[in-house]
Amino acid sequence: MAFSPLVDELVESLRCLPGVGQKTAQRMAFHLLEKGRAGGERLSEALASAMTGVRRCESCQNFSDTGICPICEKPERRGGTICVVESPSDLLAIEQAGDYQGGYFVLMGHLSPIDGIGPADIGVELLLRRVHEEGVKELILATNPTVEGEATAHYIADRLDGSGVLTTRLAHGIPVGGELGYVDGFTLTHAFRGRKPLAD
Ligand SMILES: [Zn+2]
Repeated sequence: MAFSPLVDELVESLRCLPGVGQKTAQRMAFHLLEKGRAGGERLSEALASAMTGVRRCESCQNFSDTGICPICEKPERRGGTICVVESPSDLLAIEQAGDYQGGYFVLMGHLSPIDGIGPADIGVELLLRRVHEEGVKELILATNPTVEGEATAHYIADRLDGSGVLTTRLAHGIPVGGELGYVDGFTLTHAFRGRKPLAD
């Protein structure tokens, strides 16, 4: 059903968002036009600015307004440890936890031969160059505990085999405050393999 070409175009454009189908897109468009004009204008300006101004950090591949992102710009966060994650939201989660003080590398995905995504697509060469140039001692492979995430971590670890760089993987296990009886078998198996001495 066509209201006007402009409304149709707005609805169609909103459908590019994840999880937004026809109905939701219509509701969003009508809301903006009926009573959210100021918000809509702000959204359109923010979208235009972000689409032209946001690029990828030349060092860690994360989204950045500048050639080198604010984290990579800090000398104290370079040189010792790099934490490799799949997405900017993973980086954000680790930053918000507040404990980790090293650098990052954002793959923006994982290896997936079936989808044609190889090492070049996730920036493995750039990562390895950084590891060597910055004299990195530990590479934390914090990719997701999925088949693709594990394969990606193993691939990167293999590429560093014999280099003297320590490659580590995040421990997977029981959530803090969780109960064993409700944990799935896969998680429980990982937790068993990753068990540590009590005094640690
Ligand atoms: Zn960066």
